[in-house]
Amino acid sequence: MEKDEKETPVFACQRMECKELLERLSEYIDGELDPKLCADLEKHMAECNPCLIFVNTIKKTISLFKYASSEPLPKEVHLRLHDYLKKKCQGC
Ligand SMILES: [Zn+2]
Repeated sequence: MEKDEKETPVFACQRMECKELLERLSEYIDGELDPKLCADLEKHMAECNPCLIFVNTIKKTISLFKYASSEPLPKEVHLRLHDYLKKKCQGC
């Protein structure tokens, strides 16, 4: 019997899924993430372009927020991040 070869997905989201990245993102940005997880996150970003773009966008947004005020990231921004990533990383 021959083996059924399934198409390998283009996205290399094996180590960490986009969802997981999203869950860790606020910790990552706050610098509170475990260094190991941090490395996983960065590996994921190196192979998942939507996530890379997303995180870069978020970092810029957050640095603007921090510059403008010393308030923590508003909940609304968190919600928008979730929304954004859902759209960007659908098939991942
Ligand atoms: Zn991803």
